[in-house]
Amino acid sequence: MAPQILSPKEMLEKLVSFDTTSVKTNILLIEFVEGYLASHGIDSVRVPSGNGIHTSLHAVIGPGDVPGIGLSGHTDVVPVEGQNWSTDPFTLTQKGSRLYGRGSCDMKGFIACILSHAPKFKERDLKTPVHLLLSYDEEVGCTGVRPMIEELGDKLPAPRLVFVGEPTSMKVVDSHKSSSGFVTEVTGLESHSGKPQLGVNSIMAAGELISELTRIDAELRLRADGPRFDPPYTNVAVALIEGGTARNITPKSCKFSWMFRAVPATGTNEILTRFEKFAKEEVLPAMVKVYPEAAIETVQTTHVPALNAPEGSPAVSLALKLAGQNETFAVSYVTEGSLFEEAGFSSVIIGPGSISQAHAPDEFIEESELEVCSGFLGQIADYAEAN
Ligand SMILES: [Zn+2]
Repeated sequence: MAPQILSPKEMLEKLVSFDTTSVKTNILLIEFVEGYLASHGIDSVRVPSGNGIHTSLHAVIGPGDVPGIGLSGHTDVVPVEGQNWSTDPFTLTQKGSRLYGRGSCDMKGFIACILSHAPKFKERDLKTPVHLLLSYDEEVGCTGVRPMIEELGDKLPAPRLVFVGEPTSMKVVDSHKSSSGFVTEVTGLESHSGKPQLGVNSIMAAGELISELTRIDAELRLRADGPRFDPPYTNVAVALIEGGTARNITPKSCKFSWMFRAVPATGTNEILTRFEKFAKEEVLPAMVKVYPEAAIETVQTTHVPALNAPEGSPAVSLALKLAGQNETFAVSYVTEGSLFEEAGFSSVIIGPGSISQAHAPDEFIEESELEVCSGFLGQIADYAEAN
């Protein structure tokens, strides 16, 4: 029996049916992909996570001994909890021209296109191979792709360049902001709220620290040093806070998570350095006067560098040529592209679907976007056969 070829839409239906929210396993989805590729004579290699619940997958179509064109996508999706969906998020549902489902846009749509196209790549006499690079844990700090990148050029063949298929409405994106996340923990001292002079109020100290972050944010806005981005500045935000036990107890501990998204022109060290200086010189002294063990500690939890592809970079030039476009764009979300670029693999972002639908309830992709993406993959196949 001839192996089955799934259309991009059929493939997307299959991929959406696996609930691959980042905290859950993606192994079942990967098993399905391995089986599909194997049925078309395409071998793949896993790069598993340390805890064994996730794995990346790397596959080569064409010659194994020359650098290839990497097609990269993350298999994980953001949670649906707390979101109001009008359809089952894990059942691809078509309404008119739209295909609804979690990950339909970010970014199983792209993965569906490349898997659906895999048998066509395989049929061609490719001079330049096509590499499929599927990762996990992108949505929680782009952590899952890192072990696979480490093996490129070592256990796995290196790509010559990488197309990352995050949703850009198939426009060529050569630049994105960086993203850095932190947790700051303030330790004070409990006391009866009637005897505040005996305690150190960690929440009020945290309030001062947060005010400083608010001031930094306002100053960076005014600087507006990223005219290509929307918004055109680096922003700082506090997103989570917890602390205290009861209204009549001076709170001992308070913890808050904060982050910034920086345009390439803003130094990423500058913000943390200023914040820590403020904490040490302006907030902590009054705390330790009452309680010598009072503390303010900040730990960096995530960092994804900015992508700032040099003009005329191999990936950007080829993407523009194959997509028949002459303009590049900058976006404010992070991708795995900057990690590939940082590791020395020229990268560009181009993929189906609009980022406005990503992460939202009733996430969808226009069916026509899948068609445009498949056309682009056809261009890649022609190029890879000829060059
Ligand atoms: Zn994504």
